[in-house]
Amino acid sequence: MRVKVLGAAAGGAFPQWNCACSNCKQLRQGTFHGKARTQAQIAFSPEGAHWFLLNASPDLRIQIEATPELHPRQGSRDTPIAAIVLTCAELDQVLGLLLLRESQPLHVYCTESVRRILMEDNSMFRVLERIPDQVRWTTIRPGVRFEMSSLAGDSLGLSCDPFVIPSGYPGYAKEKSELHPDEAVLGLVVSSARGGRFAYFPGTPAIRREWREAFNQCDALFLDGTFWSSDELQRVQGFGSTAEQMGHMPLSGPHGSLETLKDLSTPRKVYFHLNNTNPVLDESGKEYAMVREQGWDVAYDGMEFSL
Ligand SMILES: [Zn+2]
Repeated sequence: MRVKVLGAAAGGAFPQWNCACSNCKQLRQGTFHGKARTQAQIAFSPEGAHWFLLNASPDLRIQIEATPELHPRQGSRDTPIAAIVLTCAELDQVLGLLLLRESQPLHVYCTESVRRILMEDNSMFRVLERIPDQVRWTTIRPGVRFEMSSLAGDSLGLSCDPFVIPSGYPGYAKEKSELHPDEAVLGLVVSSARGGRFAYFPGTPAIRREWREAFNQCDALFLDGTFWSSDELQRVQGFGSTAEQMGHMPLSGPHGSLETLKDLSTPRKVYFHLNNTNPVLDESGKEYAMVREQGWDVAYDGMEFSL
């Protein structure tokens, strides 16, 4: 299986348009020892022909253009993108769907609650229903394995296990009482019958015991790398929520992911969904050195694996 990181940053990207934190400032000045990053986006393929997107970032158009594997291959309209899997309804993870609206048949996997938020409460997403059968929706049920097929419906030997992440719906959707709490945010383990398995947990406030076992059986793990410390945003902005209150487990500290997962045996451990304030983005800094020493990679745009 091939896995490509098209974008590695959290919402707002790096640099973020209205942010003057020391990372963003130095990057603009050309004095930063690290890379700019677009917003979180992963693509994977079991055999290099059919590609799947994990969520749909607001930067998806430029991410597709920067990735030759995702360009049209035949005829006047075409895409190798077989499907998009949505793990939540956050704007940073779904806005890209609106960029894929050019009357292109699409297949989207998501929970029923996420589909309702998009299609019943946000009229703009009706651009995905302009022509008959434009988008095929397949419902994901938390805890229930599902197979992923080509756009034509052919089996590709791909399966996915969705895990419930204890989190909530986006602020814009919280009012709806009929939304099922377990369907708000999912973590995924994707497996290919041809070989290769990876876990995708880009936003989680804690690590559940049963996830460890799943992580240990994976060839790669993409884990929440949003914040280095619990009070990172408060220190940068002078106000705001803690990392945990925002649904993110920080990397550092006694309860951080570095310490919590220090015995993990997954061969490739990757911090993904990096907020622009995170000091780990600075490759000359002690935080970056510490993460690398403990066997973790820091995701960047264009990073690629063969699993
Ligand atoms: Zn910043």
